[in-house]
Amino acid sequence: MSQEYKICTRCIMDTSVPGIEFDDKGVCNFCAIHDTLEAEYPLNDNGKEDLEKLIDEIKASGKGKDYDCIIGVSGGTDSIYSLYMAKKYGLRPLAVHFDNGWNTEIAVSNIENATNILDIDLYTYVVNWEEFKDLQVSFLKASTPDAEAPTDMGIHAVLYRTAAEEGIKYSISGNSFRTEGVIPHSWGYKDGKYISSVQKIFGKVKLETFPNVSLFNAINYILLKRIKIVRLLNYLPYSKEEAKKVLIKEVGWKDYGGHHHESIYTRFFQSYYAPVKFNMDRRRVNYSAKARLGLMTREEGISHMKELSYDPEILEKDFEYIAKKFDLSLEEFKEIIALPPKKFSDYPTYNPMLQKLKGIIEFAMKMNLLPGLFQGGIQKR
Ligand SMILES: [Zn+2]
Repeated sequence: MSQEYKICTRCIMDTSVPGIEFDDKGVCNFCAIHDTLEAEYPLNDNGKEDLEKLIDEIKASGKGKDYDCIIGVSGGTDSIYSLYMAKKYGLRPLAVHFDNGWNTEIAVSNIENATNILDIDLYTYVVNWEEFKDLQVSFLKASTPDAEAPTDMGIHAVLYRTAAEEGIKYSISGNSFRTEGVIPHSWGYKDGKYISSVQKIFGKVKLETFPNVSLFNAINYILLKRIKIVRLLNYLPYSKEEAKKVLIKEVGWKDYGGHHHESIYTRFFQSYYAPVKFNMDRRRVNYSAKARLGLMTREEGISHMKELSYDPEILEKDFEYIAKKFDLSLEEFKEIIALPPKKFSDYPTYNPMLQKLKGIIEFAMKMNLLPGLFQGGIQKR
């Protein structure tokens, strides 16, 4: 069913996003989510109090342990700034890096410099490349927008696993809804069953060491071990540009240019694969965030969206580099990229079961049938 074109009157999210809704003033549901989060994390004295309380809780949870929190680091601004701020608040983080084989040198040196200068222990998990390469190619063959699910799941799993081993209760994520924007649910999906089923259908090798999160693992980490994900930057008036200046000065950080381009595969995914094949352009989310904060006008955002999302010269080089790294010919790689788009729901996942469970949990919460234990485990986005 074709829908009439509509664009939000406050940001630049539009009907290219499946499931977008508008209120009677023409403001989209992503702006509404932003406002809800703004109320939850206000940048005033109440917000400051909430942050102090959280820091105290994290410190208390780590008494007698080597660390009180875990922070996943990619080498980008958000994760390194989270490390820097955690240390500033007197937390004792363990930094964890998931090395998926695609790091740029700048990302690696950013992580090394920051952890050395801030005197933070670093654990680097190096993925089994033969397995991981095959899994990434499987996801390209599955032809869904979830080509980054293997990396996202790997990071997720290694963080949870390491936190569980070390008795750490808090995982600090570098997300900030203010600067990052609200990413539509329909733009990405991952779960443990999805990973294993896609690999079973398209893979050449069996996943033996890849850190996946099964439903059983998730229940253990979230409900039994009660490991919580907290978004430190949501409590702060976080500006990426200011953060970059601080990091360059204080921890020898270097800019890699472009959002999340600390990995060549991520660059390919965000600037070409997702926007061109699936019409999922992160710039729309980021410019929308800027429009809400008054850092960019809607008109500027709309006009920037008309520019190419990638540099054709860089893209050509990335195509060659990625094909070679995957042991594919350029033609084979291009054929895979050109497969018709599919959705995660075309494959076996936990989603149908989770949807049923969600209904039951929401009903039980409404009826006040659930103790705090379960409610604390349900993650807000
Ligand atoms: Zn909006």
